[in-house]
Amino acid sequence: MKNIILFSVILLILFTGCKQEPKSDNPFFNKWDTPFEVPPFEQIRNSHYLPAYLKGFEEQMDEIKAIISNPKAPTFENTIKALEYSDHLLTKVGRVFGALNSANTNDSLQAINMEIAPLASKHRDDISLNDSLFRRVKSVYENMDKFRLTEEEKKVLDDTYKSFVRNGAALSPEDKDKLRSINEELSKLTVQFGQNLLAETNGFKLVIDKQEDLAGLPEGVVAQAAELAKSMDLEGKWVFTIQYPIMEPFLKYSGKRDLREKLFTAYFMKGDNDNDKDNKAVIERIANLRVERSRLLGYKSYADFVLERNMAKTPERVFEFLGEIWAAALPVAKAEAAAQQEMIRKEGGKFKLEPWDWWYYTEKIKKEKYDLDDEITRPYFKIDNVIEGLFYVANRLYGLVFTRRDDIPKYHPDVKTFEVTRNGRHVGVLMIDNYPRASKRGGAWCGAYRGQSRDINGRMITPVVTIVTNLTPPTGDKPALLTASEAETLFHEFGHALHQLLSNSTYPSVSGTSVPRDFVELPSQIMEHWVLEPEVLKVYAKHYQTDEVIPADIVDRLDRASKFNTGFATVEFLAAALLDMEYHTLTEPADLDIREFEKNILNKYGLIPEIKPRYRSTYFNHIWAGGYASGYYSYYWSEMLDADAFQAFKETGDIFNREVAAKFESEILSKGGTGDPLEMYKAFRGKEPGIDALLVNRGLK
Ligand SMILES: [Zn+2]
Repeated sequence: MKNIILFSVILLILFTGCKQEPKSDNPFFNKWDTPFEVPPFEQIRNSHYLPAYLKGFEEQMDEIKAIISNPKAPTFENTIKALEYSDHLLTKVGRVFGALNSANTNDSLQAINMEIAPLASKHRDDISLNDSLFRRVKSVYENMDKFRLTEEEKKVLDDTYKSFVRNGAALSPEDKDKLRSINEELSKLTVQFGQNLLAETNGFKLVIDKQEDLAGLPEGVVAQAAELAKSMDLEGKWVFTIQYPIMEPFLKYSGKRDLREKLFTAYFMKGDNDNDKDNKAVIERIANLRVERSRLLGYKSYADFVLERNMAKTPERVFEFLGEIWAAALPVAKAEAAAQQEMIRKEGGKFKLEPWDWWYYTEKIKKEKYDLDDEITRPYFKIDNVIEGLFYVANRLYGLVFTRRDDIPKYHPDVKTFEVTRNGRHVGVLMIDNYPRASKRGGAWCGAYRGQSRDINGRMITPVVTIVTNLTPPTGDKPALLTASEAETLFHEFGHALHQLLSNSTYPSVSGTSVPRDFVELPSQIMEHWVLEPEVLKVYAKHYQTDEVIPADIVDRLDRASKFNTGFATVEFLAAALLDMEYHTLTEPADLDIREFEKNILNKYGLIPEIKPRYRSTYFNHIWAGGYASGYYSYYWSEMLDADAFQAFKETGDIFNREVAAKFESEILSKGGTGDPLEMYKAFRGKEPGIDALLVNRGLK
């Protein structure tokens, strides 16, 4: 309540203070005169966000009042379209804030986030629970056939109506109040989860001060650890953290088993340390609130609620899908574990294989079988070359051209910016931000400071897209040299970027990546198929010192090794996906002992103790804070699609087949969320996707 009063006072000050000025000192209130209207990062201060959000809420409420008080009968134009364009300022500030709070955060941004999250949640509820507005939306929906609507407009109308219902518009007043308080609490818990996780991730470091404890580590990894130590005022020592790019090489190469155990244990205990950053109570509450919310809305479980809008449609279908792959992968993973145990035995080791040993022995076996390790290939994957490879593929497939632009504002010196054109016409802007830092959350993602759409007058708005990753950074005088899997990550995110860049929709809510979760990874994962194709490698994979193209026999070994350890990779992933589904198919609120719950689920499926799920519950950001609740399976669902879709190229004998690419662009990439995903897929492929290509690609069939 206090908040609401304060909120109104601030609004009053804002409105009397800002309206008259032609140019505000708050950049969010101005038109951006930067190249391509990219956010003027250097002008944006932390103090600008809250006022911009508050004014954004107010402006949208004004627009909504105007829609409601329109004396004319509801039409698509005066209701749905007006609503679609009502959040101009809110989107403007929200996109910048959201992107920077992930890629370049600080205590102040996090505090602002904590303050805004419940306000934003309340604001969304004020719209979706507004009776008069819903009546108008419903009227347009029920009279859909009376308006001459395009297919895209029908989809926007259908989405809008269903989104109102799914957000509680049809509930009784008491239930609406319940829903509001659930939403508000959920929004706070979600932020809390993320902040705990970041603190836990940054809170651990393994400091090494004896040279002998570096045994087995490649020179580049040691140099990286020395630089990390230096940045933490520990010059002369070496620091390893539980950030993936530095943790993974340690697990792969360190001969010090006790240190591997220490590091990996810190990793998988994140959020589960019974301290003030513990996430167990947070996620228990989130899971329970989601059950309550779904029941209130008339669904059996949260998964039922979510999946209705996905391609998979029901939890049963997802369990069936995951079960089929699990059955194929678990025996393979068990055989991999046995091979590792055998190697331990041969070396005279008297211990049982543990999760912190997996990477180490996998690497040894890989070396033995294929004479291949990351250090052999790294010199050929200089980051700038990999980026050139991306651009080459996009050019061959879609005719896009990428030009480096240093005159465009950036939020951090690491950002590289490119203008994207086709046939000389501007398509959009792409920013790439590659290296880990404490202010960046883990993982890799693609977002947009501005999505593609047409404005209310039909004028094209071009996208400003951003790729953020945590890849191996440059060290000393060496450029950033990536692993093959890191190169794949770049291709993946670049696929999302293409989905945004080639989007050609009219309405913002259905543009680019605004598609169901289990479809959204199709454009990204299909790009991964090009990364190790010999035809592509010879263009970009050149030795960073000699410019020598990656030798054919390394390419051959890479190819043969590509199906190595896939039992582990598949099982590790599926274990997390199953955890997600189990949490979200709960049908009643329950006292959850998170550790027990997790253990029981993993036992039920027979996960072997040598493998931990890719994400344990307490750091499973995707499902608690990242929008992937009962959606983590989506990556594999999309893989079914991408494996099948890449076959369309392969079948022509030309991985750059322009006709297939044109079809992929016209039926999938350009369409965004304007159609039904299964229909879009069938229009591209001529048939429904099957699971075979996925199993074959993973060497599971
Ligand atoms: Zn992705």
